[in-house]
Amino acid sequence: MIPNALVELDRRHLVHPVTAYRTHEERGATVLKSASGVHLFDEAGNRYLDGFAGLWCVNAGYGQQALVNAATHQMAQLPYATGYFHFSNEPAIRLAAELADRAPGDLNHVYFTLGGSDAVDSAVRFTHYYFNAIGQGARRNFISLEYGYHGSSTTGSGLTALPVFHAGFNVPLPNQHKIPSHYAYRNPVGTDPAAIIAASVQALRDKVAELGADTVAAFICEPVQGSGGVLVPPTGWLPAMQAACRDLGILFIVDEVITGFGRIGPLFGCEVEGLEPDMITAAKGLTSGYVPMGAVFLSDRIYQAMADGAGAAMVGHGFTYSAHPVSAAVGLAALKLYEDGLLANGQASGAHLMARLVEFADHPLVGDVRGISMLAALEVVANKDTKALFPADLGIGARMAAAGNRQGVIFRAFPNGTIGLAPSLNYSLSDVDDLVARLRATLDEVL
Ligand code: PLP
Repeated sequence: MIPNALVELDRRHLVHPVTAYRTHEERGATVLKSASGVHLFDEAGNRYLDGFAGLWCVNAGYGQQALVNAATHQMAQLPYATGYFHFSNEPAIRLAAELADRAPGDLNHVYFTLGGSDAVDSAVRFTHYYFNAIGQGARRNFISLEYGYHGSSTTGSGLTALPVFHAGFNVPLPNQHKIPSHYAYRNPVGTDPAAIIAASVQALRDKVAELGADTVAAFICEPVQGSGGVLVPPTGWLPAMQAACRDLGILFIVDEVITGFGRIGPLFGCEVEGLEPDMITAAKGLTSGYVPMGAVFLSDRIYQAMADGAGAAMVGHGFTYSAHPVSAAVGLAALKLYEDGLLANGQASGAHLMARLVEFADHPLVGDVRGISMLAALEVVANKDTKALFPADLGIGARMAAAGNRQGVIFRAFPNGTIGLAPSLNYSLSDVDDLVARLRATLDEVL
């Protein structure tokens, strides 16, 4: 089929995620056709360096034959198995065991989902169930961070604090509350890490006091706020929030949908600061985006309390595709790739990326350069002194994305023009240099 005909069919029939429908109808889709290594190719024959690993998920890069083989072998052998009615399947069992072995603390129980949004939903449902099981059913309030993103299901979008996910959708839900982010570049308390940490801990304490100490169930946050603009907390922020949660008697849930599987260095982002949360949610890099899968990691305490609370009754939570054998087989193969060299390669390329991105600090459009390993952002401003953003009607984000495409690179162009980066872990040092060169050309073109 010729590309224009595909674009027309897309326009007429395909409803896109997180897209301005009318703008999309006018603009038409960029139809991707194939991929290899660190590159994507569209139907028109253009080649792009993928600076965003798909949607921060293809951590292993493209063309990993081991992942393809794992999927095709499993599809031929057992394409589907339910986890209901006491059935199980070998890849899911092995993946749960391997991951539990590597997960922080006593997160020894793994519930598999289809992606990140339903992992967050499941974590919320497990939290409710846990507190009901231990006789603290009044704990129904959830606290999350401004600039946070936790998916776009009804529950997750309410925990999310990005306005576009609320507008028109009747969320957040009444039990979902926010406290300010640690966002250092635009923090009213300034850039001093100790002040930022103290302010966040105090904000959490104040919010819990305001809601009533025995009505709060959990605090959920990302180790690095991704969709909010790649906001990296100061060192010590995450451990301080974990300690405050413990002190307040509320669960500490870490949403690792982006930060897991090497994105910020180790297998679990929690390892960077030695966190031991009560639950972790994960997805994306778990299967490197080749097939859909997410996960919730539950601590011994939570799992045992839920099991005891249920007694002989069923815990009524589950999906047809929970613990899908094909996804689990790909997850196992991805884990092997990560541990056979990809994590190490990502760490080396990530260090190089951070070192090179610093060069953008004196670019007239770049107000802030931030990141950790293979997750980074260049915050674009109209005025570096005042940190003023470009007026919304200028469409700076769309202009940045279009300029990037012309320069042969794909990144996340946030609506305010900020460039989000999440290269796959198979980037070589020279791929990083290529990315940096294309980013500079993009910024110079928009200037
Ligand atoms: N949580 C975080 C931190 C995310 O970044 C995302 C997606 O980007 C989600 C949850 C939702 O995951 P999914 O898009 O797989 O539903």
